[in-house]
Amino acid sequence: MKLPEIKILDEKDKRLHEPSQEISFPLKKEDKKNIKDMLLYLKMSQIDEYREQYNLRAGMGLSYIQIGIPKRIFVVVDEVEENVFEDYVLINPKIISNSEELIYVGEGEGCLSINREVEGIVPRYARITVEAYDVEGNLFTIRVREELAVAFQHEIDHLNGILFVDKIDSQNPYKNADKMREI
Ligand code: ZN
Repeated sequence: MKLPEIKILDEKDKRLHEPSQEISFPLKKEDKKNIKDMLLYLKMSQIDEYREQYNLRAGMGLSYIQIGIPKRIFVVVDEVEENVFEDYVLINPKIISNSEELIYVGEGEGCLSINREVEGIVPRYARITVEAYDVEGNLFTIRVREELAVAFQHEIDHLNGILFVDKIDSQNPYKNADKMREI
């Protein structure tokens, strides 16, 4: 398999701090191609063979702004069992409800735009319901929990110009950890 040619912006790029705009339908051909490329890139980054061959970091999600396009699209690739993947493409997503319970990723979140070790935790809702459009412009609702809920919230933050490191209190990177559940 050939790695799609996509260039992922680094956190130093100011564009990552700007909110992305809603996109209208029908999607352009190039948008559909970019979405396909992003999904394949993530999938390959999660398969040992390709990760080594192309020297990749494993990633679960990518937002459109990370490839330099300020439109409200993100994709997530979830490995449900070894080398079996579930793809998610969300366009103009909105969180319509969330759990009261908060969780955080104990080992810390990662981001393909942040190429350094980051210490600290990010509070996330344990469960969210999101409304979004698919690539054909159909509105759908999806409810996600745990790791997938974290990934969705991380990506929606990107669409609002927010990186996970922005949400970590630098004075107290593990602030309120005792009030949330670690996953
Ligand atoms: Zn990210």
